[in-house]
Amino acid sequence: MRRPICVNCNLELRVKKSSVGVETMTTDGPYQYFHADLWECPECGLQIISGFGAKPIVEHYQPNYAEYIAAEKQLTPVFRAWFSKQERQKFTEGSEALAREFGI
Ligand SMILES: [Zn+2]
Repeated sequence: MRRPICVNCNLELRVKKSSVGVETMTTDGPYQYFHADLWECPECGLQIISGFGAKPIVEHYQPNYAEYIAAEKQLTPVFRAWFSKQERQKFTEGSEALAREFGI
């Protein structure tokens, strides 16, 4: 795979950290969990995540999902990824409503 390129600096990005965690998200919450690489531009610091494995490591319906993610967070940064700002906004509003309702 060719290295990604920073369009601001015309430089190839470098892997800053391999095997970071990524939870793909829906409006209902986490969906799948992957490992991928965190890349960074050596000049401007732009960061992206790319180089995902072909299959998720764990999926939301598996009974140990939450415990697995909690353990991963002790080992590596875990990022979340929504498809759109609108989906992220719906999830955030839903989480805040739940927190208000249940005082959590
Ligand atoms: Zn750059």
